[in-house]
Amino acid sequence: GPAAFDTAIIGAGAAGLFCAAVAGQRGLKVLLIDHSEKVAEKIRISGGGRCNFTNRDLDIRAPQKHFIGDNPNFCRSALSRFTPADFLALVSKHHIAFHEKHKGQLFGDRSSDDFITMLVSECDAGGVTRWQPCAVKSVHTSESGPRYRIETDRGSVAANNVVIATGGLSIPKIGATDFGYRIARQFGIRMVEPRPALVPLTFEGASWEPYSQLAGLSLPVIIETGEKKSRIAFHEDLLFTHRGLSGPAVLQISSYWREGEPIRINLAPDVDIVQALQHAKATSKKLVANELAALVPTRLADAWVAQDATLKRPINEASDKSLAQLADRIARWPLVPSGTEGYKKAEVTAGGVDTRDLSSQTMESKQPGLYFIGEVVDVTGWLGGYNFQWAWASAHACAQAMAKT
Ligand code: FAD
Repeated sequence: GPAAFDTAIIGAGAAGLFCAAVAGQRGLKVLLIDHSEKVAEKIRISGGGRCNFTNRDLDIRAPQKHFIGDNPNFCRSALSRFTPADFLALVSKHHIAFHEKHKGQLFGDRSSDDFITMLVSECDAGGVTRWQPCAVKSVHTSESGPRYRIETDRGSVAANNVVIATGGLSIPKIGATDFGYRIARQFGIRMVEPRPALVPLTFEGASWEPYSQLAGLSLPVIIETGEKKSRIAFHEDLLFTHRGLSGPAVLQISSYWREGEPIRINLAPDVDIVQALQHAKATSKKLVANELAALVPTRLADAWVAQDATLKRPINEASDKSLAQLADRIARWPLVPSGTEGYKKAEVTAGGVDTRDLSSQTMESKQPGLYFIGEVVDVTGWLGGYNFQWAWASAHACAQAMAKT
């Protein structure tokens, strides 16, 4: 007969490994399956190889601030019951040294391998059986005995619970698939259309031409999108690339940006640009480009001035109107991206399994015994460790629920 387990978890990434460890340690007989040779390849490449494993800046009474999804409050329950401090306790138990960077981001001191080793040893402590590489051919409900039957290239598995932890579509090169979405559809669970998020934006055409030679230039900006109530802004670094814009500012805004919508950038967020230019006009005979270069990087100042003949002169000879226009455009540069760099470059996938068909307490879907955790779910974190925190928290909620039933 088939190999029998209480729980079969498909996908040995961040969420799958942690869920397996917790469920195993709570006494469940757990099988963890991954089609890749190695587990957790995304942890390995995360945070530039150091893994930004969580973020200290997460208000556990209102954690939804740092997450995006069609149902913004869905993530609250799991995130408030398994917090960054809870994960830090585990990291400390394994003597992994870490440090805090920008805006509460916590990174390992050494290497992301430390976190993979930690999770695998927690799985071992829970007696988890791991099959990898192992392809899953099908998942079906069973008439008798355990609720599910899974066919794999290592044989059949019978299990009462199936947890889908196969992640999103980002970085197909290291094993991302749409497996989780296909299982959702098979069981009639709704989907929110997936889209690349935390991804560089691209720009095409003549209006981008003046900026295409700025590749490599980086500067702090305020970037925003949306109107009124849906307006969202980030004060972060912007990076010009060969095809468009990247850097933390753009990655963050990309998760909120929708095709066809504008973004707006303040290229000099820390100065009053109107006043600075007026003052320069009253006191200086230098070229506009030179005065502007005191406020924004020189290459950027040159690119802006080059586009407007009325600015190619000493600043005291420039008209008030053209200086006011320049100031306005620098403080509120409107742009409509042509697109994104896509799943090849996206750190995460927004959208996914519709949370209306999941329990926020347990991650169980409306199909009894079938759970979805981690990035496959329509919960997307900000840049800065929030996506791993969602992986840990959703995995923990799911493991806890399965151990109780
Ligand atoms: P994953 O970790 O992607 O795991 C999914 C697993 O499922 C994989 O092991 C995969 O092989 C397996 N799988 C897929 N399809 C199948 C199938 N058909 N059959 C069997 N197995 C399958 N987030 C942060 O919070 N901090 C960071 O520093 C950070 N850095 C990142 C850097 C990069 C370059 C990228 C791409 C992402 C980064 N992220 C970061 C995002 C983070 O890695 C993911 O959100 C997180 O790994 C999601 O966890 P998961 O377990 O849901 O999915």
